[in-house]
Amino acid sequence: MGLYLTARDNEQIERARKALVLEEVDGYRLDRQKGGILNTCADGDQFFDLVTKEAEFVKARCNGARIHTFGWNGGALRLTVRGIRWRWLGLMLFKLFQLILERLGVAVIELFGEAAAARTMKNMDTAALYAHAPCGYAYGQGLDFNTVVDRLFAAKENVKQAIPGIKVACFVHVRHLDGRPRTYFVSRDNWLRYRAAA
Ligand SMILES: [Zn+2]
Repeated sequence: MGLYLTARDNEQIERARKALVLEEVDGYRLDRQKGGILNTCADGDQFFDLVTKEAEFVKARCNGARIHTFGWNGGALRLTVRGIRWRWLGLMLFKLFQLILERLGVAVIELFGEAAAARTMKNMDTAALYAHAPCGYAYGQGLDFNTVVDRLFAAKENVKQAIPGIKVACFVHVRHLDGRPRTYFVSRDNWLRYRAAA
C-alpha cells in the first residue's frame, strides 16, 4: 500500500512551491559530467520515478546514466548525525566495535564512509541528496515536510564536512495528492530565508 501526503505536508509543500522555494528541476543544478552519487530513501513506491528522473539529468550531462546509488529507509535523514566535528573519534570507536559486532552477527555500515569510498572508486565529485514525501520513515518519526527539509540540509552540511571537497545538492521528490510525481531542487539559501520569514 502506497502512502499519501498528509494534509499538513500537502499544505507546506504548496506554500513552498508558491514561494518558489521548491523549484522544478531541469538537472543543471549539479555538475554531473562524471555522473554522481545518489542518496535517497529506498521507498519501493517512489524509487523508480525518482531514479528515472535522476538518470535523465545525468544522461543529459554525462556519457550514460552513471549513478552510484545509496538507498536506505529515510535516505538523507539518516545522515543528520550530531557532532560531526568529533567524527575522527567516532571513527576510531567505530572500527573497534565493528571488529566485535561483525563477529556477533551484526553487519555494520558507516554511511559517510560508503559515500567517500564511492567517490574514490568511481571518481565522482558530486552527490545528490534526496528527501521525499510522502515518506514512511519520516512519518514513522513524526516529521512533517518542513522538518524533513531542515534535516536534509543538516545532512548536506554533514556530508560536506565528512567528505571535504564534494559538491552536494538537495532535492525533494513529491508524489502529489493527485498522483503526479515531481522532483524539486531546493537551494539552502532560499530555504533558510523562507523558514526565517515563516
Ligand atoms: Zn521514504
